[in-house]
Amino acid sequence: MIRLENLTYTYPESDRPALAGITLEIAEGEFLLVSGPSGSGKSTLLRCLDGLVPHFYGGAMAGRIEVCGRDPVAEGPREMSRLVGLVFQDPESQCVATTVEDELAFAMENHGLAQATMRERIEDILEPLGIASLRGRRLETLSGGERQRVAIGAVLTLQPRVLVLDEPTSQLDPQGAEEVLRALLRLNRDLGLTVILSEHRLERVIGHADRILYLPGPG
Ligand code: ADP
Ligand code: MG
Repeated sequence: MIRLENLTYTYPESDRPALAGITLEIAEGEFLLVSGPSGSGKSTLLRCLDGLVPHFYGGAMAGRIEVCGRDPVAEGPREMSRLVGLVFQDPESQCVATTVEDELAFAMENHGLAQATMRERIEDILEPLGIASLRGRRLETLSGGERQRVAIGAVLTLQPRVLVLDEPTSQLDPQGAEEVLRALLRLNRDLGLTVILSEHRLERVIGHADRILYLPGPG
């Protein structure tokens, strides 16, 4: 489903590549944990999957990336967001609306989906994420773990085939982290969603993953 071939990428004004000659395949339905020390390129690798690298960050890229038969470098993040849902570390920085339902609708409104479709997709997403009881709440009243599950819901409304999460539990307390991981496991096992998650604290996630990709150091 995802294939990287000899992928090398260097950020602008950097003198050495953040990713050097990475070759990798990820199968549909896999739960992949990306691990490694800080600065080893986990975030950079994830940003390549939806085209944020190089579209947003600039820099120089060589090699090939294919995600669901598409080339993120050619298509860019907006087009790729229908296939690849990207969730970041800090749920606050990625929330844009005031209430849970508005947050869940936001990406779909941006993509011009019909009202009826939007309502249907929100209904479908509430249960697997365990956020049905939160739907009318204001985001500021939610815990970190609840917010992060809403953020995941917001990207899933575009029905991506891959969910990519960059250290999604690192700012959460243990209970919030466990709730997020349990929701991800349900999405992966029950709905067959491909999940790619980076985390530097292995012990939290290791029991859930099918495979670990370990980045030993820069490049
Ligand atoms: P990780 O997520 O594993 O901590 P990163 O992908 O963030 O690693 O970083 C990999 C390398 O790229 C590091 O050397 C880091 O300093 C560099 N880097 C990350 N983001 C940027 C950026 N926006 N501009 C320049 N260099 C960056
Ligand atoms: Mg990172």
